[in-house]
Amino acid sequence: MRALFFSSQTYDQESFRAAPAMEGLSLNFQAARLTEATATLAAGHEVVCAFINDELSAPVLERLAAGGTRLIALRSAGYNHIDLKAAQRLGLSVVRVPAYSPHAVAEHAVALILALNRRLHRAYNRTREGDFSLHGLTGFDLYGKTVGVIGTGQIGLAARIMAGFGCQLLAYDPFPSPQMQALGARYLPLPELLAQAHIVSLHCPLTEQTHHLINQQSLALMQRGSMLINTGRGALVDTPALSDALKSGHLGYLGLDVYEEEAQLFFEDRSDQPLQDDVLARLLTYPNVIITAHQAFLTREALAAIAETTLENIARWAVGNPQNLVEG
Ligand code: NAD
Repeated sequence: MRALFFSSQTYDQESFRAAPAMEGLSLNFQAARLTEATATLAAGHEVVCAFINDELSAPVLERLAAGGTRLIALRSAGYNHIDLKAAQRLGLSVVRVPAYSPHAVAEHAVALILALNRRLHRAYNRTREGDFSLHGLTGFDLYGKTVGVIGTGQIGLAARIMAGFGCQLLAYDPFPSPQMQALGARYLPLPELLAQAHIVSLHCPLTEQTHHLINQQSLALMQRGSMLINTGRGALVDTPALSDALKSGHLGYLGLDVYEEEAQLFFEDRSDQPLQDDVLARLLTYPNVIITAHQAFLTREALAAIAETTLENIARWAVGNPQNLVEG
């Protein structure tokens, strides 16, 4: 059996080659992103392994199915980028990696919080330039501040790290978690959470209900000077509205690991080309914004777990006993 990996990077190849091999499965790695134009590369591969910015729309899935693909193995937890109805219609099975390291993502969210608060990005550049001044670097104590967690699944729950700093936890999720409540978190309706939190961190999946959950109206409910962290999915926030809120000073800090239009940008070195995305270009001008290019998952432990679970998913599917199926 042959598996083709789209959007694969060196670290993917290393982690998949290091994971326990499945007998009879050949792994073929492709740097190209999966799109309508590249789908034909998968001809003759029963398994296509895709990442978050690969295109898994109906026309792409039709091409894959026509080329003999029968399993889409997502090497991600999120599955908002696949047309599940089309997959079902075409008889394609879809599997994913529901949990690889919630700690990796939650710890990255905390890294953004700490860097933004203590302005590490600015301090780093200053000292390298021989500027040892402190003006503009004043932060705040995290101790005693209120953190609002939106989506308290595996990653949101790992945001318990903030309780260790002495923060109060507020939460919003249609399915409250007893473990989160045991940490002292109070579940509130979204408008109340937004109004009370000093820091808001997004950890819910991207669905029709959560699309642009943070928009002009919800930003207006947040306290002036508060911090927003998004390590979930780009389209959870209306990005132009963020820019307006930063410009007016209403939003005090912004940390993004995901961006609505990231598919055409992230995971590649584009430093020698003019940035074509004006919204992103504007965001990058604010001193109180840090943007990372979807790297929250990128720890050794998470990569090893993604590889291991994906290969297990393929092996289980191959023997007719699938696990981690995603159904529409
Ligand atoms: P999870 O399924 O364990 O938890 C998601 C939680 O969100 C659940 O508790 C669910 O009830 C809640 N939820 C659903 N709809 C909601 C709504 N309308 N409002 C508030 N909460 C809602 O998922 P997880 O493993 O914690 O991952 C969360 C998301 O993080 C993923 O869907 C993915 O988009 C994102 N993610 C990002 C990265 C990264 O590298 N930046 C890596 C992994 C996952």
